[in-house]
Amino acid sequence: MNLRELGSAALDLVFPPKCQVCGQFSAELFCDTCRASVSPIQPPFCRRCGRAFDPKSAAGSLCGECRRDAFHFDIARATATHTGALRKAIIAFKFYGRRRLQQPLGQMLTDFINQPTSRERMDPAGHDVVVPVPLHEARERVRGFNQSLLLAERVADDMGRPLRPDVLLRGRHTQPQIDLTPAQRRDNVRGAFAVALPEAVAGRAVLLIDDVFTTGNTLSECARVLKRAGTARVVCLTLSRSSPDWDKDRDLF
Ligand SMILES: [Zn+2]
Ligand SMILES: [Zn+2]
Repeated sequence: MNLRELGSAALDLVFPPKCQVCGQFSAELFCDTCRASVSPIQPPFCRRCGRAFDPKSAAGSLCGECRRDAFHFDIARATATHTGALRKAIIAFKFYGRRRLQQPLGQMLTDFINQPTSRERMDPAGHDVVVPVPLHEARERVRGFNQSLLLAERVADDMGRPLRPDVLLRGRHTQPQIDLTPAQRRDNVRGAFAVALPEAVAGRAVLLIDDVFTTGNTLSECARVLKRAGTARVVCLTLSRSSPDWDKDRDLF
């Protein structure tokens, strides 16, 4: 046992390692019980935006919004539904400052990209740059960090791709989306983002990272300005996907 291991073993005696989500004793920051309650989005789902279909009524491979071409990104995927321990983990990470969750949550994103069922659409080798969805400066000041940047940092690191948090800027302060109608939601994010460094993304494929996909409007708006700046392809990846219809629990987006 070297000095560092000895130090960490001593720390474990004083602060026994526990799951950062449920508080149970666990060597992992996100314990096995919590991990087991994560619900991956099962097929059938929209091949473009990843929205899950009701298996009984699924018709075609695109959802209504994608058939209307409502989104500007090429593909969006979420690792799981915004329920159970994953939802709790995201809340703990984002609102209660459990920054240590960066590691297991970031790992979930990389594992998702590399899993055999998503490799074809996620194209692990095809991303040139990893870009986080920026948080408004005022909100980042209050929170002390941007959760999407922490996640993107892990993904970029694991995949050996450049991280470019300086490419997208968030200007106008947007209202929380939760109480708005679909049309208001689209207006609410329109003009909220700008591309600061078009040369960093022109002709490139961007992997855009955020924590939760709710309406898709934020990701779509980021994709719109990126495409306008010449980005060739925008693939979005989030930890979870919540439905604006059933997610009424005021997660304070
Ligand atoms: Zn746990
Ligand atoms: Zn869709």
